[in-house]
Amino acid sequence: MSILRKQFLQHIGQTSPAPQLIEVARAEGVFFYTPEGKPYYDLISGVSVSNVGHGNPAVVDAVCAQARDYMHIMVYGEVVERPQVEYARKIAEALPAPLDSVYFLSSGAEAVEGALKLAKRATGRTELIGMRNAYHGSTHGAMSLMGGEDWNYAFRPLLPDVRHIRFNNFDDLQHITTRTAGVLVEPVQGEAGVVVPAEGYLEALRARCTEVGAKLIFDEIQMGFGRSGEMFACVKFGVTPDIVCLAKALGGGMPLGAFVSDHDTMNLLTHNPVLGHITTFGGHPVCCAAGLAAMNYLEEHNLAGQAEQKGALFERLLADHPKVVEIRRCGLLLAVELGSSEAYFRLLDLFIEAGILSDCFLFCESAFRISPPLTISEQEIEECAALIRTCLDKL
Ligand code: PLP
Repeated sequence: MSILRKQFLQHIGQTSPAPQLIEVARAEGVFFYTPEGKPYYDLISGVSVSNVGHGNPAVVDAVCAQARDYMHIMVYGEVVERPQVEYARKIAEALPAPLDSVYFLSSGAEAVEGALKLAKRATGRTELIGMRNAYHGSTHGAMSLMGGEDWNYAFRPLLPDVRHIRFNNFDDLQHITTRTAGVLVEPVQGEAGVVVPAEGYLEALRARCTEVGAKLIFDEIQMGFGRSGEMFACVKFGVTPDIVCLAKALGGGMPLGAFVSDHDTMNLLTHNPVLGHITTFGGHPVCCAAGLAAMNYLEEHNLAGQAEQKGALFERLLADHPKVVEIRRCGLLLAVELGSSEAYFRLLDLFIEAGILSDCFLFCESAFRISPPLTISEQEIEECAALIRTCLDKL
């Protein structure tokens, strides 16, 4: 084992019991390369972060220019920083009305924390409802809403007054009541293994929240910024939440999170108490400049519009392989179901040998993930699918 790998295992805090240990030297487009020059297809994109591709020159230029102008000046929200303002305005224009006030943070979990607090503050209620098999981040609050006791039991007590209902189960909507401050939902459940909403489910959830006065919070952290086939999944499904959480691709490869609501609701965080949410690094100008450049790039190249066809092409090229049990898909996020975790883990080794980086899902170890940069070309999809089929043949 190389010295760097040994030091990685010694000095980098580990929570994975079996890190993949591939060393990265550089990355470009849909590939990253080891120091020996071996290319890997990146089918994870840092979990839907690198939507505009690795090393995108538009993003790199924006980062360099902003770093030269200024980096960190003051905690968020006190002084006026152009990259934050321009980016917030652009996000507000792309989201449905009345979602026009963006609170920037540094990560997805933080965005979820802010959204949960806002729902409590806005309703004066305490109960929070999450979905089974949902993932929202690893902080205590976000984790409390995450729907999997295997992950949570060791860290209890978590947030009080939290309950979980089943995604896509219409009967469970009755558990949302006038006690409920907010309901947190991924419009497409990512870590459950790409579970798309049943016909009419998000509409029924919206209606129930409106009926009882609970805030509907969409976690678009994994699905946002083109992955679903629209810039935002709430636009794709035609359902407008009260609060949206964004992160991952929001920063164009830099760390950035945000929760978004209408202006009046967000303004509640300015009083009773004042400074209802504070952050030092949230909305870092370099991250906002990167995110803005990435969102402009997504729009200029219609990458959200292409995500559906590209996802469908991947699906078509793999669906008839005898080892593939089913493919679940939304836009360019695919879960290729193999039927057993043993098959998945055997395939993972074959992938690494072949130069493919993929993984399974937190709540679904029997499927592998296809979530490449949205910039992937049709030719790259064909080549990558052929490589995947060769690995599947050896299973
Ligand atoms: N929400 C969803 C749907 C996610 O997929 C993730 C991360 O994978 C998060 C929230 C947490 O984001 P972060 O890791 O930036 O805290």
